Amino acid sequence: MANADRKISGSCCCGAVRFTVKGKPGMMGTCHCSRCRKLGATPFVFVKREQFELVSGEADIACYQPVAPYTYVRSFCRLCGTALGEPLSDEASFPVNAHCFDEDPQVRNAFHEFVAEKPAWYEICDSARQFPGHPET
Ligand SMILES: [Zn+2]
Ligand SMILES: [Zn+2]
Repeated sequence: MANADRKISGSCCCGAVRFTVKGKPGMMGTCHCSRCRKLGATPFVFVKREQFELVSGEADIACYQPVAPYTYVRSFCRLCGTALGEPLSDEASFPVNAHCFDEDPQVRNAFHEFVAEKPAWYEICDSARQFPGHPET
C-alpha cells in the first residue's frame, strides 16, 4: 500500500473512541504548560481535517471549554477519561494526543513548548528545539 493511503489507527483507553489518520500526520510537539500537563495530552500530533476520520465514539466525546483568554477546547472520552486533543475541531489542522495512536504515527517530536512551566522532575531527553513559551520561528 502506498504510504499516502496508509491509515494509522488510534483510540482511547476503553476503545469507545476510535479514529484513523490517512497518510503521514503533521508535526509532533510537546507542551509542558500546566494546563496540558493536567489535561494529560502533552505530546500531540497535528493532523489535517481531511486525513482524520472519527470511526466511532463521537457521542462519548466530552469537551472542556477553557476560560478566556484560553481558546484551546480539550476533548476527552467521557467513559474512560482519555485526553484526545481536539478531534471535533473545525480547524483545517488540529492536535491529537500522541498517546492515543495505536501504531507508530511516523513523526517524531519536533519541539518542546512552555518549557518554562515544565516541572523540575521532568527531564527532556531528546534534542528537539525548546521554547520557554509559544514557539517562535
Ligand atoms: Zn474511552
Ligand atoms: Zn500547553
